[in-house]
Amino acid sequence: MKKILIVIFCLLQFSFIFAASAKYESENYNLNIRYNDVITPGDAIFVRMNITVPKNHKKTKTEPEKKATLQLLQDKKVIESAPFYHLKNKKTNYTEMLCGIPVSLWLKEGNYSIKVIYADSDSDIKEFILPSKLEMRTFPEEILKLDERNTSIKTDNSPERAAQIDKLNNILFTTMPSDIFSLKKFTTPTESQRYTAYCGDRRTYVYTNGKSSTSLHYGNDYGVPTGTEVHSCAAGKVVLAESRISTGWSVVVEHLPGLYSLYYHMNELSVKEGDMVTQGQLLGKSGATGLATGPHLHWEVRLNGSAVRPEFFLNNFTFEED
Ligand SMILES: [Zn+2]
Repeated sequence: MKKILIVIFCLLQFSFIFAASAKYESENYNLNIRYNDVITPGDAIFVRMNITVPKNHKKTKTEPEKKATLQLLQDKKVIESAPFYHLKNKKTNYTEMLCGIPVSLWLKEGNYSIKVIYADSDSDIKEFILPSKLEMRTFPEEILKLDERNTSIKTDNSPERAAQIDKLNNILFTTMPSDIFSLKKFTTPTESQRYTAYCGDRRTYVYTNGKSSTSLHYGNDYGVPTGTEVHSCAAGKVVLAESRISTGWSVVVEHLPGLYSLYYHMNELSVKEGDMVTQGQLLGKSGATGLATGPHLHWEVRLNGSAVRPEFFLNNFTFEED
């Protein structure tokens, strides 16, 4: 049976979010862990670990690659899980790894824990429960009456729309361990502070025939006039830049393994698929294309396929030191 170790922890303030840290020391290696210890619906949990080898440790000829997994558990059941990816470094006897998992926008009160499974080698595997706390959040509800044009977009069952949804989902559920393009905190895609909707809003769409459907709004909407500049929230790679039935002219940028930002309803694009972009680079101009009741920018962030609150990423979520 695997031993669960409770690690020593303390609270430190990193930029403007509270980050917790934990340490584990053994004969063969030392772990230093930084993570956000608050589990909140719609946020993410990021854990950064560095592993150092003690000076008196006997060196083996071939050091096995270190592996780790991050899990979110409800009672004892794993509800989210992802492997850590390695960050590049030039120091010897030093390994740095990062991992993020989303916390569902639907998360209910319960008994949750954050676990790290660390394999220093195939025969040296340890599990750590990281101390954490749950903070619930309530999301507003709104009713949107759709006109003829928006009703037909929302109820479009064409193979073309289905293919567009499949294509986007394939991108958003792709994790490329080597795609580390940005460790910096995000910046907002527009200077406007005029939010017209938030990520997690519970939305009821009422169609022209009187029927309705309920869904979650996955991004933050900025009520900006058509032609407003839209900038990339972080450095990355453009993995989609095209017109879609429901989201209009759309851009998706990959920033970290499994971490993407999305920009919808644009009027024109300035980038194409495959382009590398810097933080703040112009992606295009906003508009009202696709399902939109007026000109606005929809900015969304996805982690391992799940929508997460973009505001979370305005913090130093990777615990990067300047
Ligand atoms: Zn929106």
